[in-house]
Amino acid sequence: MSRRETEASSRLTRLLADSVRGNRPTAAETLSLLPHAPLAALQPVAEALALAGHGRAISFSRKVFIPLTQLCRDVCHYCTFAKAPRRLPAPYLALDEVLDLAHAGAGQSCKEALFTLGDKPELRHAAARDALARLGYARTVEYLEAAARAVLRETTLLPHLNAGVLDEDDLRRLRPVAASMGLMLESASDRLCARGGPHYGSPDKRPAVRLATLRNAGRLAIPVTSGILIGIGETRRERLETLLALRTSTTSSGTCRT
Ligand code: SF4
Repeated sequence: MSRRETEASSRLTRLLADSVRGNRPTAAETLSLLPHAPLAALQPVAEALALAGHGRAISFSRKVFIPLTQLCRDVCHYCTFAKAPRRLPAPYLALDEVLDLAHAGAGQSCKEALFTLGDKPELRHAAARDALARLGYARTVEYLEAAARAVLRETTLLPHLNAGVLDEDDLRRLRPVAASMGLMLESASDRLCARGGPHYGSPDKRPAVRLATLRNAGRLAIPVTSGILIGIGETRRERLETLLALRTSTTSSGTCRT
């Protein structure tokens, strides 16, 4: 081992020991030492921190999925959720279908109605615009608000909304009808949005707009779940950068649950 490698190894050992004592590594330490640290050194520290933070308890929320629409304006290359209009029986679930699903979930002891949907499909698909017009809405987010309100009013479930990228006005619009919202940061890497990357052609996957949504949600005191995607072509360094971006976002807004 060269002298430089020996020094890096010592610094990593100190950083991991500090981490177990509760001292978070800085961004600079994280990016200089962890991209190439051996997994065998990281795993026991991760286990110790998880046990110190949460013990052996594993919590979960029993939920029923409500796929309000599987249309989306984005084209993420790994997506198995979004469909072309011709592959769907209807662009949107009708309100009575939403309530049927919610009642069925409540009957199975669910506590949460998890609304899943593509991002702003009306900006890409005429079928979405036409369907929304027939329902009496101009935008998906307006129909989502109505559907979540109906679930809140007519069932015992708490709506959790995975509505994609939202501006501050739409966050305010949805807040009264949502117990919580979800927006995966997925990746803080702009590289993945470039031609040939999995987020090429998906404007809602630009890290800056997703981070802005998370920060605005935090400012509005909206509980938000977030996280990262693994295995879409990112490097370990990019995973670390994404976790750091989430950490900054949570400490600046205070409410993001990763
Ligand atoms: S934004 Fe979500 S639903 Fe839309 S294509 Fe990407 S992964 Fe699929």
